[in-house]
Amino acid sequence: MLICAATNNAGKLKELRRILEKQGHTVKSQKELNIAIEPEETGTTFEENAKIKAQAICAASGIATVADDSGLAVDGLDGAPGVYSARYCGVHGDDEANNDKLIADLEQVEESKRTAKFVSAVCFMLPNGKSITVLGECPGKVIRQRKGTNGFGYDPLFVPDFVGCEDGSIKANTQQLTYAQLEDWQKDAISHRGRAMEKLDRALSDFLQTAEK
Ligand code: IMP
Repeated sequence: MLICAATNNAGKLKELRRILEKQGHTVKSQKELNIAIEPEETGTTFEENAKIKAQAICAASGIATVADDSGLAVDGLDGAPGVYSARYCGVHGDDEANNDKLIADLEQVEESKRTAKFVSAVCFMLPNGKSITVLGECPGKVIRQRKGTNGFGYDPLFVPDFVGCEDGSIKANTQQLTYAQLEDWQKDAISHRGRAMEKLDRALSDFLQTAEK
């Protein structure tokens, strides 16, 4: 089906687009639909913020809309940066400064507390206001220096516990590769966003059957 991807984040858009297209959908970004609004993320949870974004962009686009609210929760920082991941350094969307701050804030944190998880809440909303929200998580840890150049955001600092294999299975990340060192498909197979989108894919036809009535 035709779906609007509710994000102005280029890295996130690339991932949402490739996952949704692989699932057989046609994707239009906010930009392609000339929607410039950036809804204020006033929620305190990923789920709340995903719904706020989906609602605003669905109303503007008039078509089914997918919004992802995501972030990194680090154990040694009591779950920070969490829902504030995009603006951890004080400036929204400055990936380099966010990574610098994360490295600095974790400098004195012992190895066992550098465990973390990426979380993605994905809200799928129809123009009639009905919606479904799913959650995906990816456990791992934060390293001390950037490694790798793929992806976006905190990718160069995050080592997931697992990676995807070519046969579709997953295996332990014995090479300790960061998200930024994985091929796109290797990340999608185990990432928080990949997992949330997989759940959405499984739930979508049942949801549409009741929600479109
Ligand atoms: P949002 O647009 O409020 O959901 O912000 C998400 C923020 O979390 C991004 O700006 C990144 O800093 C971070 N983030 C979310 N997903 C990823 C990912 O897959 N890799 C790296 N950083 C991510």
